[in-house]
Amino acid sequence: MKIVLASNNAGKLAELQAMFAPLQLTLVRQSELNIPEAEEPFRTFVENALAKARHAAKLSGLPALADDAGLCVDAFGGLPGVDTAYYATRFGYAKSDDNNVTALLEQMQGIDNRRAAMVSTLVAVRSADDPEPLIAVGRVVGEIALERRGTQGFGFDPIMFIPEFGKTFAQLPVEVKNANSHRGRAAQAMLALMRERWMA
Ligand code: IMP
Repeated sequence: MKIVLASNNAGKLAELQAMFAPLQLTLVRQSELNIPEAEEPFRTFVENALAKARHAAKLSGLPALADDAGLCVDAFGGLPGVDTAYYATRFGYAKSDDNNVTALLEQMQGIDNRRAAMVSTLVAVRSADDPEPLIAVGRVVGEIALERRGTQGFGFDPIMFIPEFGKTFAQLPVEVKNANSHRGRAAQAMLALMRERWMA
């Protein structure tokens, strides 16, 4: 089966392609089909991922898979959430991973509750009008460190301290991180859902 991936990120395509290989699914990036990016106007991951999947299915006539992800900090009521990629810009910094880390460390100064989750939500639809989208959520819970540690990974990895490893994601080998990441967990859950609901 061919499925459109509602993302133009080559890294995500490669990662998901490998994970879905056992189902004999071929993922095609929406840009290869000249499908423009959808708007993401909503306040929750699931609404944005559903909007992206629906948009890609509508314009391609194929089943579609979309993801939306971000960081949810307990002390901020789960924010920045869907605004994670632009977090630093709220505080006058340019948009970048490193500035996001700087801004978050500043905003969390003096806050004792450092718990936060990286969350990835995957949504798959058989068609634009599918009344029963498949929804898979992957989370990894950690603590926002007081300073950067490690050089691997990207995004918030240098300050995402994972208690079960006693290290930040940036201090762990990439394979270990990927096997335990929000994205990896969401993809595994989606694989199981597709097997059960679409392939049976
Ligand atoms: P995306 O939509 O998955 O590309 O990511 C949304 C935001 O979360 C961006 O600011 C990313 O840098 C950050 N992010 C996503 N995945 C990870 C991760 O595995 N580690 C650290 N930060 C991440």
